[in-house]
Amino acid sequence: MSDEETKPGIESRIPAPDLSCPKCNNLLPNGLGIITCVMCKTQVKVEHEGTRRKWREEKISCPECSKVLVCGVGKRPANLQCSACQAHFVLKPNRPKIEISCPSCDRKLRMNKRPGVREISCPACEAVFNVSF
Ligand SMILES: [Zn+2]
Ligand SMILES: [Zn+2]
Ligand SMILES: [Zn+2]
Repeated sequence: MSDEETKPGIESRIPAPDLSCPKCNNLLPNGLGIITCVMCKTQVKVEHEGTRRKWREEKISCPECSKVLVCGVGKRPANLQCSACQAHFVLKPNRPKIEISCPSCDRKLRMNKRPGVREISCPACEAVFNVSF
């Protein structure tokens, strides 16, 4: 874990576009800049001006005093300081969620969408299965 992930923070509501690795076609981690494919380790440069603009314009509320702030920063994570209470906090990258259904009992499960294969155990029927994105 990096420093930025352990600081107090809130999650951005705006994800970067979903892209696949040009080499192995697996889903790339969500983000902009130099993204490393978790499957084949290829580095891919991802740029999307529309997302950067939305990131700069994103409104968030301060986790300390709830004042609504305009982010003003075109990257994630963004280190922000509240103009009202001066609290420092991190606006973390959006982690896209995905809904899948358990192959055994059909219950809908919501989870963070992360590239690669994951082993899931269903909280309802305890079936264990693999998903890959
Ligand atoms: Zn790849
Ligand atoms: Zn504040
Ligand atoms: Zn199940």
